[in-house]
Amino acid sequence: MFNLILFGPPGSGKGTQSEKLIAKYGLKHLSTGDLLRSEIANQTALGLEAKTLMDKGQLVPDAVVIGMIDAAITNHPKARGFLFDGFPRTKAQSEALDELLNKKGASINVLLALNVTEDELIKRLLNRGLTSGRSDDTKEDVIRARLGEYHNKTASVADYYNKSGKTVLVKGEGSVDEIFDSLSAEIDRRM
Ligand code: ADP
Repeated sequence: MFNLILFGPPGSGKGTQSEKLIAKYGLKHLSTGDLLRSEIANQTALGLEAKTLMDKGQLVPDAVVIGMIDAAITNHPKARGFLFDGFPRTKAQSEALDELLNKKGASINVLLALNVTEDELIKRLLNRGLTSGRSDDTKEDVIRARLGEYHNKTASVADYYNKSGKTVLVKGEGSVDEIFDSLSAEIDRRM
């Protein structure tokens, strides 16, 4: 298996690059944000609980997202690898993910961290809010709360994987294709 974490703050381009990477490398895309929005669309109890927090720009509880990822991994026993997008976002999520993969005799091969300045992130998110239909992209205070959660709880995930030499920083500004080429080069080096 080849398992990749695409990492970076909200607005760093994880979703856009994920779509291109799964097409090129045949990985299964697991986005906790997408999974949560699908729970909301289906009006499940989990979705209702998550929506209140997401609308405020806060993280949903670890147990909720870990449960979703556990189920998704179990549901794809033949996957040649996973691309994790928006997960893990805390140390507890990182430890849980390592354990889930370990049970399959697998592990994370690389964490690619997209590097984008804060001004550029806010600009991109507000711009995405004009068309995405995502309510968490339209209010600047919610965007700032998400960036705050990222700095307080999520940024350290890159340090966690750096301890085993798996974290690689990639420039997240430039054209979509330039960034895709940088990400692909790092994957090719390790696949
Ligand atoms: P973005 O990275 O642009 O904020 P996502 O779609 O990845 O967008 O996440 C949207 C929201 O979903 C987050 O602000 C958070 O509330 C929730 N969420 C997504 N993934 C996780 C996670 N792994 N842990 C906790 N909350 C999450």
